[in-house]
Amino acid sequence: MTGLMSGKRGLIMGVANSHSIAWGISQALSREGAELAFTYQGEALGKRVKPLAAQLNSDLLLPCDVEDLASVDTVIETLRERWGSLDFIVHAIGFSDKNELKGLYADTSRDNFSRTMVISCFSFTEIARRAAEMMTDGGSMLTLTYGGSVRVMPNYNVMGVAKAALEASVRYLAADYGPRGIRVNAISAGPIRTLAGAGISDARAMLSWNQKNAPLRRTVTIDDVGNSTLYLLSDLASGVTGEIHYVDSGYNITSMPVLETLRN
Ligand code: NAD
Repeated sequence: MTGLMSGKRGLIMGVANSHSIAWGISQALSREGAELAFTYQGEALGKRVKPLAAQLNSDLLLPCDVEDLASVDTVIETLRERWGSLDFIVHAIGFSDKNELKGLYADTSRDNFSRTMVISCFSFTEIARRAAEMMTDGGSMLTLTYGGSVRVMPNYNVMGVAKAALEASVRYLAADYGPRGIRVNAISAGPIRTLAGAGISDARAMLSWNQKNAPLRRTVTIDDVGNSTLYLLSDLASGVTGEIHYVDSGYNITSMPVLETLRN
């Protein structure tokens, strides 16, 4: 098969089901010829991810909970044995206690702050460090973020702080690994109805607000995100690193809500 990603092998972390952003990304990468390995968090999700991986002809499916560093090491070791080298990774992992994805940010607990940071931010650095060792001929790394990192979004709270740190780590990792030909970027996706998205209080209102006020007057889909990752993960973006690329129907450029009356 020939395509933008032909001959490239990569690891996808963060497919929970067919609504996951990572699944939209996987479908786009596979369509363009990439060979994929998947991780899943726990056996319950594994049952959902296995048939999805099979749809894309992947039998490389490994359990991984990023809170358990040994499971991350096992994933990397298995890939090293099977593939030897690695061309790209996709980190689409985020978690925070949903009881703290509502109300005031100021009420965030120390325990949930640390856990949110480790899972949603630092895991990218830990995985990047290990994956970089396998990117002997350069490579590309991608994580997923949200505009709540740079502007206050209701209820996003500690996740916004974690995403800000994640975006900063994209820049630091890009600087660390640039000399080795490894590019590190993030996609900042608009709100999408997923398992993780549903954990944020008033998610529905957020979706409808974006739909009404984004320049494209619609929310984005996992396919929109998947198609944009093709650019960042393929050689089309060979000169791009340390970027936060918005795929949000243009919502990030808006200031006041659209007032249709002002248009006439
Ligand atoms: P999702 O629920 O489908 O995916 C989140 C994934 O994180 C799941 O696969 C889950 O298993 C994994 N995960 C959570 N804790 C983990 C742990 N300890 N170890 C390993 N994996 C763990 O939801 P999604 O919306 O597709 O989320 C993917 C990424 O996209 C997240 O980083 C999220 O913050 C980001 N994002 C989502 C939206 C949105 O509106 N849905 C918008 C912008 C960015």
